[in-house]
Amino acid sequence: MTAVALPTDNPFRAPSALPYATPAFDTITNGHFLPALLEGMRVHRAEIEAIATQKDAPTFANTIEAMEKAGALLTRVNKVFFNLTESTTNPVIQSVQTEVAPKLAQHQDGIWLDARLFARVEAVFAARESLGDSERKRLVERYHTAFVRNGARLGPDAQQRLRTINETMSTLTTRFQEYLLADTKALAVVLDDAKQLAGLDPSAISAAADAAKEAGKPGKFLLTLQLPTSQGVLSSLQDRQTRQRVFEASNARCNRGTEHDTKALVLQLAALRAERARLLGYATHADYVLADQMAGSAEAVQTMLAGMSKQIVAKADQEAAELQAWLDQHQGGQKLAAWDWAYVAEQVRKERYAFDEGEVKQYFELESVLQNGLFFMAKQLYGVELVERKDLPVYHPDVRVYEVFDADRSSVGLFYTDYYARPSKRGGAWMNDFVDQSELLGQKPVVVNVMNIQKPGKDQPTLLSFDEVTTLFHEFGHGVHGLFSRVRYPLLSGTSVPRDFVEFPSQFHEDFAFDPAVLARCAKHWKTGEVLPKELVEKVRAARSFGQGFASLEYVAAAILDMAWHTLPADAKVADVAAFETEALRKGGVLSPLVPPRYRSTYFAHIWPGGYSAGYYAYMWSEALAADAFAGVMENGGMTTKNGLRFRDLVLSRGMTLEPMSMFTAFRGRELDTKALLKRRGLL
Ligand SMILES: [Zn+2]
Repeated sequence: MTAVALPTDNPFRAPSALPYATPAFDTITNGHFLPALLEGMRVHRAEIEAIATQKDAPTFANTIEAMEKAGALLTRVNKVFFNLTESTTNPVIQSVQTEVAPKLAQHQDGIWLDARLFARVEAVFAARESLGDSERKRLVERYHTAFVRNGARLGPDAQQRLRTINETMSTLTTRFQEYLLADTKALAVVLDDAKQLAGLDPSAISAAADAAKEAGKPGKFLLTLQLPTSQGVLSSLQDRQTRQRVFEASNARCNRGTEHDTKALVLQLAALRAERARLLGYATHADYVLADQMAGSAEAVQTMLAGMSKQIVAKADQEAAELQAWLDQHQGGQKLAAWDWAYVAEQVRKERYAFDEGEVKQYFELESVLQNGLFFMAKQLYGVELVERKDLPVYHPDVRVYEVFDADRSSVGLFYTDYYARPSKRGGAWMNDFVDQSELLGQKPVVVNVMNIQKPGKDQPTLLSFDEVTTLFHEFGHGVHGLFSRVRYPLLSGTSVPRDFVEFPSQFHEDFAFDPAVLARCAKHWKTGEVLPKELVEKVRAARSFGQGFASLEYVAAAILDMAWHTLPADAKVADVAAFETEALRKGGVLSPLVPPRYRSTYFAHIWPGGYSAGYYAYMWSEALAADAFAGVMENGGMTTKNGLRFRDLVLSRGMTLEPMSMFTAFRGRELDTKALLKRRGLL
């Protein structure tokens, strides 16, 4: 063991003495992070060096298990630090982050490309069948895969080329982000007259006036663009010409031959990814990415997308006909165009499912949703109880801590909630952990759910929209995936599963928010105690599937586009980005003049700078698993302990110790059937 050299007042110096080794937030200050991170890397490097250079022949214990035990200090500080960078950041944390990010990347590369270490991993891997324990064998395979996928097996020249490719790609993706930002700004739509903005609410119109003033165009109105193709304002704007201008600006992004055109970057990135895949022994980038995902191959993804696109296109066509009928009736047979879709759909939605979002909110008070909804479901399904603990320190006054107990009163772990929005928190909702469950390290899980619910005024109740209620259940699904983990090794623990599997438990739990028993208990008017009326429940439920043809089609089109770019072989020559895109959509059967892909190639940030190359399909893949598993539960009695404990045993407790597909089929009792997803989305 390498001694830790940190001042005695640095709380990261030793494991926390608090229950569950949960971080001692009352003693951690900003100044503790940088020294602990740097020392954490130094100690980890020394521990890895000792493993790589030891005289003893490689064994599972002295190589693989030793790596699992190494880096404890670095893990300890990383877990706290990277949680806070997202939920409670400040200038000190930001500057530490900037300083350590490249150091951490180098630190990780130093491990993957250490030939001595890899030789030991290879030796243990070759003898893995003799380990006699499936979890150990699985762990060895995961380590081996990670080393190989990061280039450990390549010769020196190929490793050099890999480093160059990685460096070039990192420059190109940064440039892509800059160009996209710049062109999005440049294409903001300027309007001369408030009349052109009719339909937007007064605060949106005054925001557009402010934005114009800020851009040096006082007296005018500026509509800025959002990331996806479809723009939020399109559902409200009454002026058809304004809608057309906004739509066309959105579609033109980074595709105008200006200095911020990204077409050349797209072609270079696609080519470099294909080359890297070939270096690493794969025909295409998609094959490289998917080999380590649940889907397993590009064909599996393409088969799923192709299998659903027909129904999706049919549903979108049906929606288009309904919208055209509305236009025929109200606007004298005007022909529906892409820029009309959102606006007309909103008129139809209002006519058909009229309900007041504000009225629904009165029935979903946070504390009731938590205690009588979420925790009730947890008790019904898993037999667990969540008991608040006020004695443990938290990183922000809004954070609450619950101890989770099993039916036999044995303790499971800690569940933190951090639900309120604040300026120091990034947008969105997520689950994270402070301590990974691991029998090897003697650790029970400590997980956190973070959301961005608007904090009410003093003495006012916190009222949730139904979307927020669903999100609360979704994040809790990730939470129990971490909490119920029962594995030996931290690398295989909890939510450390592929991208196309991780949203399965979360989306599975979303649907319990609609369970009649849950609603009957938690959905009560905060003032009168009246239960949410049945008609309102039905309206909320029906509104959920309205517009799914459009939403599913724009999503599938983008997923098909992503796959098309990343199934190009290294020697492919693409000359024209727009022509390639049109051909890919046509081949996939999803080319539609009314419903363009959610992102076009030139501004598809998920797949170029983002981490979702050959991975945009993953959201729908996970949802297919969730919908089919939930349908299985419904066929077998619904929200019962029998169903819950089966899900906990066969899926939630297993982490990454089994192949994801085998966990799914064990629970479902058969192969995945994507019909349940189509039903969930109201497409069947
Ligand atoms: Zn999620």
